[in-house]
Amino acid sequence: MRMPIVKFQRGEMVMGRWPGSSLYYEVQVLGFDAKSQLYNVIYKDGTELELKEQDIKSAAGFQTRSRSRSRSPGRRRSRSRSPARIARRLTSHTAAAVAAITDSASSRRDTRLKDTLEVRLSPLQQTKADVNNSKNKHERKEENNMANKLNEMSDAKVEAEPEKNQARYNLRRRKDDGSAKPAVARPEQLEEEVAKMAAAPAATLSTPLDFGGKIGAYFWLLFLPSWVLFLVMQVNQEDPSLVNFPPPLPTLEAFWDAQALCFVILWILFQALLYILPVGKLSEGMPLSSGERLKYRTNGFFAIVVSAVAVAAAVHQGVDLTYIHSHFLQLATASFLISVLLSFYLYVRSRYTSLEQLAVGGNSGNLVYDFFKGHELNPRIKDFDLKFFCEMRPGLIGWCLINFAMALAEMKQHGLDFPSNCMILVNLFQLLYVVDGLWNEEAILTTMDFMHDGFGFMLAFGDLVWVPFTYTIQTYYLVKHPKPLSLPVLTAIVLLKFVGFYIYRKSNSEKNTFRRNPSDPKLSYLKTIPTATGKSLLVSGWWGVVRHPNYLGDLLMALAWSLPCGFSHLLPWYYMIYFIILLVHRDSRDMSQCRRKYGSAWDEYCRTVRYRIIPCVY
Ligand code: NDP
Repeated sequence: MRMPIVKFQRGEMVMGRWPGSSLYYEVQVLGFDAKSQLYNVIYKDGTELELKEQDIKSAAGFQTRSRSRSRSPGRRRSRSRSPARIARRLTSHTAAAVAAITDSASSRRDTRLKDTLEVRLSPLQQTKADVNNSKNKHERKEENNMANKLNEMSDAKVEAEPEKNQARYNLRRRKDDGSAKPAVARPEQLEEEVAKMAAAPAATLSTPLDFGGKIGAYFWLLFLPSWVLFLVMQVNQEDPSLVNFPPPLPTLEAFWDAQALCFVILWILFQALLYILPVGKLSEGMPLSSGERLKYRTNGFFAIVVSAVAVAAAVHQGVDLTYIHSHFLQLATASFLISVLLSFYLYVRSRYTSLEQLAVGGNSGNLVYDFFKGHELNPRIKDFDLKFFCEMRPGLIGWCLINFAMALAEMKQHGLDFPSNCMILVNLFQLLYVVDGLWNEEAILTTMDFMHDGFGFMLAFGDLVWVPFTYTIQTYYLVKHPKPLSLPVLTAIVLLKFVGFYIYRKSNSEKNTFRRNPSDPKLSYLKTIPTATGKSLLVSGWWGVVRHPNYLGDLLMALAWSLPCGFSHLLPWYYMIYFIILLVHRDSRDMSQCRRKYGSAWDEYCRTVRYRIIPCVY
C-alpha cells in the first residue's frame, strides 16, 4: 500500500487560499486527512477549514502589504473605504459586521468595522506574477464581481446571488463540533447573508440552536410558567411531599389580584428610578462586534441599601409584608404578565433594530425561537439598558424582599419573636449572594448572558419570575416547616457556605479582572494560553483547577442553602437539583461557544484543565 505524500507538516505556517477568492492568509497546518486528502488548517482568527493541497502554498513568494502591520487595533487604520477591501477582511464574527457593511448611511460604523476586521485577519497578497499565474479567467471575473457587488451593498442595494465554487472547498466544521455549518462564512456566503438580511431582517444565521432548537422553544415557553405554578402550588400544601402530587389546581380567580399587579409595577418603577439616579460608577461593557463598548450605571449596591431602608420604613409604618406570602401566586402571575409583555416588546423592537445589534444566537429566523431566546443583544431605551436592569434589579432585590417577608410570615404563623435559625440562615446566605452580586455588579458584564445571549423571554421571565418566585421556595417552605438546628450542624453549614462563597467570588473576580485588563500586574503570576482572537485563556489559578471554578463555588453555596431545610421533603432541595442541571447545561453551552471562538487553543485548554466543574469527578 502506498503511503500518501504529505507536503505540508503539522504545525507548519503556510499560506491558505481563502475559499472563493484568490487571497491567501497565513494559516497553520493542524493535520492531514489521508482519506479525504484535505489539510485541516487554522487561520489567525481561529477559523478552521479543510483545504486541498492546491489551495495551500509555502510562505515564500508572497509579499506582505507595505504598510505597518502593528498589532495594536488602535494604530491600525485602513486607508481605503472601499467595501471590496473591507470584504477581504471578513471574519468569523461577521454576523453583525456584515450588517454594518449594508448600512452605508453610517460611515462612522464602517470605519469602526474596518478597524475591527483588520485586526483579526491579515490577508497577504500574492505577488503579481503569482496572481497572474494562478488566477484563471473565471476567478478574476469572480473577484471583480465581488468588488462590484460590495460597492453596491454600500448603497444598500444588495441582491442575492447564487453561491459559487462551493464544491471546491470542504467547509465542514471539525467533527466534534456537532454542526454541519461552517465556523465562518466565506466571502461569497457573507455577501449572500448580507443580501438576505437586507431583504428580510429575520434571515437565518448559521449558529447552532440551543435548548432543543425550535421545538424546544415551544416546550420551554409552556413548561417554565407551568413549573413555577407547580412549585407554588406544591409548597402551599400542608404536606408538600411528592406523594401529594399533583397539588390541587387553584381557580382562575385565584391567579388574579389587581393590587398585586400594582405592587409589582410600583416595585419595578422604584427600582428603575434608583437605577437611573446618577449615583455610582459608569462601567464599560466588553467590546461589541462593532468595537463599541456600552456604558452601564453600576449602582446596584446603592439600590439594595435604599430598598432596604424603604422596606424598613414601610414595616415601621405598619405595612404588612406578609401580604407577599399570602398573595404569592397573584404576585407571580402579575410578574409573569409583565415578563410576557416585555418579551413581546423586545421581540417587536428587535425587528426594527440594526443587524449589528442582534445577538447571533437568537437570530435563527424562527419567530418562536427568537422570541424565546432573545433577538437583540443589548436593548436600550436611550441609556436605560433593559437587560442589565432586569438581570440585576427588580428580581434580584425582589428575591431578598420576598425572603424577608417569609421570615415575617413565619414569625406571624408560629407566634415567634424571632424567625427560626434555619430561616435566618437561608435569609442571610441568600442576602449575601445578592449583595455580593450587586457589589460586584460590573462582573456580570463579562458573563455569558451579557456577551452572547439576546434579551428575550428566556431572560425576561428568568429575571422577573423565575428568580424571585422559585429561588424563594426554601424560605416559603420554612414558613410552615421550621427546622431546629444544632450548633455543630449550623457551624458546618456556615463553613460550607463560606468555602463555596470564597471559591465563587475569587474565581469570578480573577476572570473578570483578567478580561478587563489581561496585563494587570496582580495576575502576572498566572499562566495563559494565547488564542487566535487576540484574547488569552487563563490556564492556572482558579481557572487552572477546573474549567468552571465559579460554578463549583456556586454549587457549594446552593448545598448550604438547602441543608438548613432538612431532609423531610424534596421540595427545598429543588434549587440544588435545578442548579446542577442548569450549570451542567450552561457549562456545555459555554464549551461549544468557546470552542467556536478559540478553536485549537480551546482544545489545548481542555487538555490541560481536564475537569469541567468538580476536580477529579466531572
Ligand atoms: P462565566 O462567568 O464562567 O463566563 C464564561 C466565559 O468566561 C466564557 O464564555 C469565556 O468568555 C470566559 N472564559 C472561560 N474560560 C476562561 C479561561 N480559562 N480564561 C479566561 N476566560 C475564560 O459564565 P456564566 O455567565 O455562566 O456565570 C457567571 C456566574 O454566574 C457564575 O458564578 C455562575 O455560577 C453564576 N450563575 C448563577 C446563576 C443563578 O441562577 N444563580 C445562573 C447562571 C450563572 P470569553 O473568553 O469570551 O471572555
